[in-house]
Amino acid sequence: MLAEILEQVLAGKRIDTVEALQLFENADLSDLALAATTARNRHNAPDRVSYVVDRNVNYTDICNVYCTFCAFYHRPGDSKGYVLTREQLQKKAEETKALGGTGFLLQGGVNPDLPWDYYLNLVRFLHDEMGLWVHGFSPVEIHMMAKLSQQTLQATLLDLRSAGLGSIPGGGAEILVDRIRKKIAPLKGGPDQWLDVMEAAHEVGLATTGTMMFGIGETLAERVEHFHVLREQQDRALARANGGGHTAFVAWPFQSGNTVWEGKIPKPTDAEYLRTIAIARIFLDNFPHIQSSWVTMGRKTGQLALQYGCDDMGSLMLEENVVSAAGTCYTVNRDEMNRLIRSAGYAPWQRDNVYGVV
Ligand code: SF4
Repeated sequence: MLAEILEQVLAGKRIDTVEALQLFENADLSDLALAATTARNRHNAPDRVSYVVDRNVNYTDICNVYCTFCAFYHRPGDSKGYVLTREQLQKKAEETKALGGTGFLLQGGVNPDLPWDYYLNLVRFLHDEMGLWVHGFSPVEIHMMAKLSQQTLQATLLDLRSAGLGSIPGGGAEILVDRIRKKIAPLKGGPDQWLDVMEAAHEVGLATTGTMMFGIGETLAERVEHFHVLREQQDRALARANGGGHTAFVAWPFQSGNTVWEGKIPKPTDAEYLRTIAIARIFLDNFPHIQSSWVTMGRKTGQLALQYGCDDMGSLMLEENVVSAAGTCYTVNRDEMNRLIRSAGYAPWQRDNVYGVV
């Protein structure tokens, strides 16, 4: 049975959820590496690995969703919470561009005190005045904006796109299964809410990414179910042929530090990460790109993930402390990324947020 499934993958045939679970439970890691690499090379040049130079910017950390796994937010009314000022945003934008960066990955907090205009003006400022690609807003934020604007999700997204929104990161998917969402983020809405926003984005022709945060108490079957709803959504997006759809999938393990789960849930091992990412590459046969999560797994495992189906190293992750340091930080960061990719046996190339060549 296992050998047949692997043969099917090598022959380019789609596998179903039962077969994916078989691979999760029984396949050797080395077999998964071969199958995932074969799948990867159907979508991507075998000898090249991309990365993007952008910056994660959280315009606010005030949030009223209170996800149990989140150590980032402050409650509305907490004096430690912030909303970035225009001057702070401008400084971050200028630093990013000076380092060869092309965009912002822009996300909150779901801040109940900001009006609809705030978001349109924020995107306009970053896009029109700062000249950045705005890869912005997780589905839970867009859902809230639709309520603020009193429009459909599609109309809300069209307004954001007119203001300069370029694409949407898939943050906040966690595990797209009711049981897990209710347990870890009861106020965030079920899987349907995340999927509905992404569906609306695809309907209006926007590019998005699909994500998964795993290792939060889900079963392997629930991980497969997560892959399954993403693959079905991507099938629908590709059938529309309007430019909308997921450009990439990225998975990372739950980090429990400073949350109520600390010490209660073991962090997934490197082997588990590699197994998960390889099966994602095999199962998500309609996703062009799979990102390695070196930021959470460490550089070595991030590098190793390139042998398990990943074709992209994600972002350089310019950080405040790094960016504000002397110019050598940029050289070190970019050199290090190029070195990591080269020493894994690939040629590096810099992309933008929708996988165009920079
Ligand atoms: S919605 Fe985002 S910022 Fe808010 S609590 Fe959840 S993960 Fe944290």
